[in-house]
Amino acid sequence: MAGPVTLPRRVTIREVGPRDGLQSEAPLAVEERARLIEALSATGLPKIEAVSFVSPKAVPAMAGAADVWARVSRSPDVAYSALVPNRRGAEEAVAGGGFAALQAFLGASDGYNRKNVGKSVEESISDVGDVVHVARGADLTVEVSISASFGDPYDGDVPAERVLEVAERVLAAGAEAVSLGDTTGMGTPSRVWDVVGLLRQRLPHVPLNMHFHDTRGTAMANVLAAMEVGVTEFDASVGGLGGSPFAPGANGNLATEDLVHMLGDMGIETGVDLDKLLEVAGLVESLVGHGLSSQVSKAGPRWRGAAGRSD
Ligand code: MG
Repeated sequence: MAGPVTLPRRVTIREVGPRDGLQSEAPLAVEERARLIEALSATGLPKIEAVSFVSPKAVPAMAGAADVWARVSRSPDVAYSALVPNRRGAEEAVAGGGFAALQAFLGASDGYNRKNVGKSVEESISDVGDVVHVARGADLTVEVSISASFGDPYDGDVPAERVLEVAERVLAAGAEAVSLGDTTGMGTPSRVWDVVGLLRQRLPHVPLNMHFHDTRGTAMANVLAAMEVGVTEFDASVGGLGGSPFAPGANGNLATEDLVHMLGDMGIETGVDLDKLLEVAGLVESLVGHGLSSQVSKAGPRWRGAAGRSD
């Protein structure tokens, strides 16, 4: 490639810190989780995955979703979503009210899916149908996250055709958008071009979100690769918090501040105020009680570093 490729002018970021970010941390208090959602809501982020209605036994840090949600003072400028595993979760989310979308999920292959939810992909597709049924009754859209789309830590490489097949199945079940998860950071740019290229070609009108993990240092390169093949929406987690409790070593969601910082310097609009977001990263650090994996929260934005130099 001899020069810059065509990149989007604007990218939508869906913040997943309050859900994906916190799920493998020691549980925070209900009011702390609500405070985090409110702080993120004031940064300009257009979408926030706020809570998940999963089994509190399976994921203790996500217990009390209805209480957290009831306590949040919601911004009219933010589309909030809830992660739901099945009909029961969807019904709880609908009862809570105020969500723009429900997020269902399954793995691209059986290995990760069985570890995550104890079911085959086939059984999970049936759960997606149940979630769609509940969501339609409440006028909510359903987006489906396909985990381990760029490699499964148990089954190994996942062919692009398999990801396409699962995407087609969940769309046939009534989902309106698809998110591809690199749950354990097995993706690289060539795999992104391969999988996303096929989906864009075969499902050109389906909204497509990418959920990258920086487990092996490839998340930001994968963002660039995905933008090159037409992706304009990304998940990210403030501070780089999170990972799946069912995927050992899956730490490190792509950090929101790192993404906002890079895109901002590339002239790609996100609508997010980086300074406010960095303040939220500070809040997150104090809430979880340990350092963060994000880079910009440690180094500061590039212009701030330059201004501090005396030579
Ligand atoms: Mg994640």
